[in-house]
Amino acid sequence: MSREIWRKRRDIDQARREKMQDVMREYDNDVYRPAIEALVATCKAAGHSAGSTHDNGLGWVFVHCSACHGLISKHGPDGQTVTP
Ligand SMILES: [Zn+2]
Repeated sequence: MSREIWRKRRDIDQARREKMQDVMREYDNDVYRPAIEALVATCKAAGHSAGSTHDNGLGWVFVHCSACHGLISKHGPDGQTVTP
């Protein structure tokens, strides 16, 4: 029974998530993403401010900006560094 409840809850939440994505898709594509990209580019030009890091569990560490939350760099398990 609890498994059935869990599946129904998952389906309800998934339907809500998909509805929200459908409703926001046009706004995100036309307004939100371009605004975020412009903000991150402006912050990058000013030098970003290194902030939080997180490990994806596969050996990659990501460094994000504390101001704009943009990705500053990522560091791989073999010592490689990628800067977007
Ligand atoms: Zn930044």
